[in-house]
Amino acid sequence: MTDSVSAFMEMVAHRSPGEPEFHQAVTEVVESIYPVLDEYPEIRQAKVLERMVEPERVIMFRVPWVDDSGQVQVNRGFRVEMNSAIGPYKGGLRFHPSVNLGILKFLGFEQVFKNALTTLPLGGGKGGSDFDPKGKSDVEVMRFCQAFMGELWRHIGERTDVPAGDIGVGGREIGYLFGQYKKLANRFAGVLTGKGNSWGGSLIRPEATGYGTIYFAEEMLKVKDDSVYQKTCLVSGSGNVAQYAVENINRIGGKAVTLSDSGGYIYDKDGIDDEKLAWVMDLKNVRRGRISEYADHFGVAYYDGKRPWAVEDADCAFPCATQNEVNLEDAKRLVANNVKLVAEGANMPTVPDGVKLFQDEGMLFAPGKAANAGGVATSGLEMSQNAGHTSWDRNTVDKKLRNIMVDIHKNCHSAAEAHGTPGNYVNGANIAGFLKVAEAMIAQGVV
Ligand code: NAP
Repeated sequence: MTDSVSAFMEMVAHRSPGEPEFHQAVTEVVESIYPVLDEYPEIRQAKVLERMVEPERVIMFRVPWVDDSGQVQVNRGFRVEMNSAIGPYKGGLRFHPSVNLGILKFLGFEQVFKNALTTLPLGGGKGGSDFDPKGKSDVEVMRFCQAFMGELWRHIGERTDVPAGDIGVGGREIGYLFGQYKKLANRFAGVLTGKGNSWGGSLIRPEATGYGTIYFAEEMLKVKDDSVYQKTCLVSGSGNVAQYAVENINRIGGKAVTLSDSGGYIYDKDGIDDEKLAWVMDLKNVRRGRISEYADHFGVAYYDGKRPWAVEDADCAFPCATQNEVNLEDAKRLVANNVKLVAEGANMPTVPDGVKLFQDEGMLFAPGKAANAGGVATSGLEMSQNAGHTSWDRNTVDKKLRNIMVDIHKNCHSAAEAHGTPGNYVNGANIAGFLKVAEAMIAQGVV
């Protein structure tokens, strides 16, 4: 770290103590931005970076609800409205017991850069609750969502703040949240994305993050005259992002051999084909079961309490579960096993030393804020369709998604090159996203 980076991070740690994930996310960005800041004295002068690490607004609230046994439960709700320089706050809601302010500030901060990269007018935000949907009945989930929206509804709006899903918040939760918003606000408006097709949703939104990650990887490989075609791929997670990453790997003709959840991972060396994937989607989205059941059903190996990064025969890795799920040991194994590409479907799944190792080893590495931006980009397309009272067919949205991922890749690639670090997608994504937001912040004055 340069002196100025350490001084900046000391300031951040002092002002936001006890938020390690937020510090990690900010450090990564500041390490990319500081070396180029001398070229932009007006950005330094306007203290853009100092302003960007301070959320524009944080909303925290009590979420009381009654469980199936009649007991009162109390959770905590959040919405971190990070930056609205280029558009309304936009970013998902996460329901997971690990959720706290620091995690949501890290996710909101990442979201600002990611949204700027999408080429769409979207600011950054993130929210959620420490509520755990796992093991809850549908009715409990509905009651919780209604209680959560009982406060959130007054803070969101199609031109103010437009939440979507994230870990623990899928189509079911968005439905309950939207129903309660509509009842309280007495208006049918595009205040959430990830809606169902019959009530304002966009085709391809469920697929978008996973599909986009693979489209991005395809672009990285194209630079090397290569493709995901016939590549063996490690995928972690088995939720929304992982499922559609596997689907797109299959569409391109690659082979995904792993999936995981917080219990462990399965290894299917013959590949998780479309038929097996349909079974996983039913397991995870309808029956809400564990990935270990895949091993029993299809007669393959299950590794309890382990992550899939030690599998020897693989070309590409797509972490699609959660933050810091690829530690330094995992990264060393991926390098030792000759994996050529790592593209992050999840947000910040690789620890900083792991990222450094991949880059030192000359691997293709795409950070989440670039590789998984297809989800929020397609949320942006859902907002456009809502605003225009129209809906586009599957093919149209998929093509737009693909083009956006191609553009994001191009922008990251050329920003990295223009600033003296060719092939460094971390620098490229951070610099390209930052410069767009910085320009808007300067134009809008000190607000
Ligand atoms: P999801 O549908 O809820 O799936 C999350 C998956 O990750 C599940 O398999 C879950 O296993 C696993 N997981 C969660 N926490 C874990 C932990 N601490 N350790 C091990 N496994 C864990 O969520 P998702 O939407 O796919 O999101 C996955 C990642 O992608 C997150 O980092 C999210 O921020 C990022 N992302 C999502 C979107 C989107 O559009 N959904 C867009 C951009 C980025 P269990 O069921 O056992 O918990």
